[in-house]
Amino acid sequence: MAAADPDPAADSDRGPDPAADPAPDAVTAALADLYRRLRTLDEGEVAAYIPELARADRAGFGLALVSMDGHRYEAGEASEPFTLQSVSKPFVYALALAELGLDEVSRWVGAEPSGEAFNAISLEEGTGRPSNAMVNAGAIAATALLPGATPAERFERVLARLSAFAGRRLDVDEAVYASEAATGDRNRALAYLMRGAGSLACDPLAVTDLYFRQCAVRATAADLAVMAATLGNGGVNPVTGERVVDEPVAVQVLSVMATCGMYDASGEWLLRVGLPAKSGVSGGLIAVSPARFGVACWSPPLDATGNPVRGAAALRELSERFGLHLMRRPARGAPTLLAAGQDAVVAAQGALDFTAAERVLFALARRAAGPAGPLLLDLSRVTAIDPVAEAMLRSALGRLSAAGHRVTVTGAPGRPVRDG
Ligand code: GLN
Repeated sequence: MAAADPDPAADSDRGPDPAADPAPDAVTAALADLYRRLRTLDEGEVAAYIPELARADRAGFGLALVSMDGHRYEAGEASEPFTLQSVSKPFVYALALAELGLDEVSRWVGAEPSGEAFNAISLEEGTGRPSNAMVNAGAIAATALLPGATPAERFERVLARLSAFAGRRLDVDEAVYASEAATGDRNRALAYLMRGAGSLACDPLAVTDLYFRQCAVRATAADLAVMAATLGNGGVNPVTGERVVDEPVAVQVLSVMATCGMYDASGEWLLRVGLPAKSGVSGGLIAVSPARFGVACWSPPLDATGNPVRGAAALRELSERFGLHLMRRPARGAPTLLAAGQDAVVAAQGALDFTAAERVLFALARRAAGPAGPLLLDLSRVTAIDPVAEAMLRSALGRLSAAGHRVTVTGAPGRPVRDG
């Protein structure tokens, strides 16, 4: 408002001041607000043990969010590239799981939080297995499981799959790779220890080289939000529509992220933020709200646990503001049962999953409590039935007809509806 303007009403007639809130929508506004307030949070240290990482701009800060419909939102330096470092770990673990299955992968790497730093030298007693795939030892063990005839072929597969998660071709920051390769003896030592204990599937030097390359893959916060959203979307990239991994793999990876993704701050993180997440020493951080969105932050300064200070603060706020904690009750959708008006009719609507199917079964059982007779199950307004709900309905119908009820089912469910 101009200082000379004596009439506040005249100003409000012109509508909201676009300079005060330039965001075109509520999600961008929330990200922009976090960016504005948290970019002045100047705490933590930029990682320097990989010399090339020490050159990072400590003021750099980007945020991005991608919904399950592939809608994209950004604030700050969301298009600034940085190396994935440990944020590569859940995706490479996903590739190992997709190739070999959980049972085989679990022979080589566990799924227990270590309660220790990311580079801790600790292996399970007896088996020599690293505790989980989110710390260095476990990530190296997971990388060792990836197939490929030559080192170049193995890396090309890793890069191609990470690119599929991101929905665009990613590349490698050769300077960061070379810097870590020149200084990564602790990781080589970890690999040799595992090899000696019988818990590493291939040559220690070859696998650490592959691991250093995977850590040096370069992406932006905008890319990482798509990668995270792919995990939250059951393994289907919501932007490209490509299935990158099967749903059970996505669920397994998110589970390990939830318990182990933030190193020895993982318990506190699940308690306060309540989202599966993974951080990396270059300042990247992803978090997933399953079936809702993937989010990513980039900001190089790290706290004492090795997690990015601004990214962690941003996610804490985002989770609180939008009520995203995993353990919260989801919003209740439309009611499953329609008032049918007749005692012998059960009419359902919407998509049927376990929760909705339980309501249908409960209603059918109530209707069937009386003497055996005809019953109508009207599914004409059901849009989709998932396999669990289908099996529940089938067994309930079988039980009812065994008890002498004649049940007629009308209406075939349509295909699942996709919004937007
Ligand atoms: N490349 C890094 C390392 O192995 C990754 C660690 C991290 O991001 N926490 O040391």
